Amino acid sequence: MSVHGIAILGATGSIGASSLDVIARHPQRFRVVALTANGHAEGLAELCQRFVPEIAVVADPTRLHELEAALRARKLPTRALAGAAALCEAAVWHGVDSVIAAIVGAAGLAPTLAAARAGKRLLLANKEAVVCAGPLLLEAVAAGGGALLPVDSEHSAIHQCLSASGAKGGARRLILTASGGPFRQREDFGGITPAQAVAHPNWVMGRKISVDSATLMNKGLEVIEASWLFCFGADAIDVVVHPQSVIHSMVEFADGSVLAQLGTPDMRTPIAYALGHPQRIDSGSPTLDLMQLAALTFEPPDASRFPCLRLAYDALRAGGGASIVLNAANEVAVAAFLDSALPFARIAAVVEASLSALAFAAPRSLDDVLAIDAAARRHAAAACARSSP
Ligand code: NAD
Ligand code: MG
Repeated sequence: MSVHGIAILGATGSIGASSLDVIARHPQRFRVVALTANGHAEGLAELCQRFVPEIAVVADPTRLHELEAALRARKLPTRALAGAAALCEAAVWHGVDSVIAAIVGAAGLAPTLAAARAGKRLLLANKEAVVCAGPLLLEAVAAGGGALLPVDSEHSAIHQCLSASGAKGGARRLILTASGGPFRQREDFGGITPAQAVAHPNWVMGRKISVDSATLMNKGLEVIEASWLFCFGADAIDVVVHPQSVIHSMVEFADGSVLAQLGTPDMRTPIAYALGHPQRIDSGSPTLDLMQLAALTFEPPDASRFPCLRLAYDALRAGGGASIVLNAANEVAVAAFLDSALPFARIAAVVEASLSALAFAAPRSLDDVLAIDAAARRHAAAACARSSP
């Protein structure tokens, strides 16, 4: 078996850590070639000490000296690079076979596209990249001749259900499960603090996606992601709240069969599925103990308390640049909330105001996407300033 070279974009994050945990279980199979972080040079250097990649990249150029010094102090041969272009360099580096796209937000789009164009196997966690540029990304994967494997647990579940169907075609509905987040049973959204919003009941994740899970925007982004990845329209994608997070998603077929994928809520499972595909490899996830589960329950999402889910469906149906506006406004609003500069309940309002004010034609290039993203960020920042507590 030849050793497979891996780049992790966003190595210092939650998906980065889970990915490295799986990779470390298979030293004969995988070799870490490139690691990137935003600004956490010391954390990146620690990972370099463990995995000794050929290159390490900090997106923030002001942290390059710190990274160089940290690598030197550890006497590592790893080359240090910095900046946006260096992120793309890591994504297309010659010894890299698979790229784990695990940067949070639209910031991950350019290197993800670069990896796809270069024909790398793309293991995609960075859902915002698909939301902003689904068609461009799929075109890039086709042009590069590589493959795309979803890492998001719901999309991994759907990929697994479609692959396991045993018959060709006939999938008629995707059913995405949602945990419901920490406020599933909370009536009043006043006074919610960032610490409360990031305390997810089932998953340990980065701060941004944790807030998205609390507003259900995460599920909205995942509906758009599923629409592009599996070619399903908004009317053929449903969301069901399933608080135990044991069923990760389902596919309904023409004959009425429904296939589901189950497992403990541990991202190492979908990461191992994507890394090993088409083989199954050990992930380190605990075994699912059905006897420990009192019940698996399901309920509809509450559209009035969680308007972000509806906004995402609206953006998907509107087409053009609406999904980019939705994503950018949400990134700005969530960052403001985490800075205690916007009340939790106003996140949806900022997104809705941006979607109503801005309309763009569908982007035809990365530059188009970035221009729409920038315009939406400006609009959302002004809306946040008007809404600040
Ligand atoms: P995180 O915040 O824990 O980590 C984000 C990583 O991206 C870090 O390494 C950070 O240094 C890097 N980064 C942040 N901003 C950057 C920028 N501007 N330029 C370059 N690098 C930057 O986030 P996470 O929870 O690991 O999520 C990463 C992605 O995976 C997100 O798109 C998220 O939606 C998706 N995802 C995460 C989970 C999960 O369980 N954490 C599950 C499914 C999907
Ligand atoms: Mg998910």
